[in-house]
Amino acid sequence: MTQVRSQPQRTCLGCRQVKDKSQLIRFVRSPDGEILVDLKGRLPGRGTYLCNSRACIEAAVGRKQFDRTFRQTCQPVTADQLVDGVAKELLAHMASLLGMARKSARFVSGGNAVQDALARKKPLAVIILARDISPQIGDKVRRKAEYQKIVTTKLFDKIELGRILGRAERSVVGLPDGKLAEAFLDDLLRYQDISGES
Ligand SMILES: [Zn+2]
Repeated sequence: MTQVRSQPQRTCLGCRQVKDKSQLIRFVRSPDGEILVDLKGRLPGRGTYLCNSRACIEAAVGRKQFDRTFRQTCQPVTADQLVDGVAKELLAHMASLLGMARKSARFVSGGNAVQDALARKKPLAVIILARDISPQIGDKVRRKAEYQKIVTTKLFDKIELGRILGRAERSVVGLPDGKLAEAFLDDLLRYQDISGES
């Protein structure tokens, strides 16, 4: 029986499972021995792959798998540092996607505008609430969004969200259905998996 595989496969250094490369996170060893997270898979050098999971990262660190796979001593690193590294890269990537939404003006922002979009049942794919949003507005938006089965998440703070969107503080941002929102949701799921946040 022949199997058609459209995706290249790699083995996770932690659990040894073979998965599609796109489901795994790539790590490289810098010339001075530092283990770097390579979310976009673009850093030079040989890479090694891990599931987007704390358990797999812990297993690889605990068994000194990085030294083994790169056949050289690597700078000491803890699983926490690598998990933080992955989470930070995912956050940075989500911020850059919001920046792209800004350039193409494909977003709704501000408590009133987002609530208005929800009231008119505009097709939003995801709503980002600032971590420091006022609880009243946050709860209101979240309830309405959940009713329409729109994903909500708390990320960044009001100042960061404003900066990303080139405005003053923003407490809420909505992304309409589309490729950009799909890419954002993909990152968000991975971020929630690795950081344990919801
Ligand atoms: Zn794994």
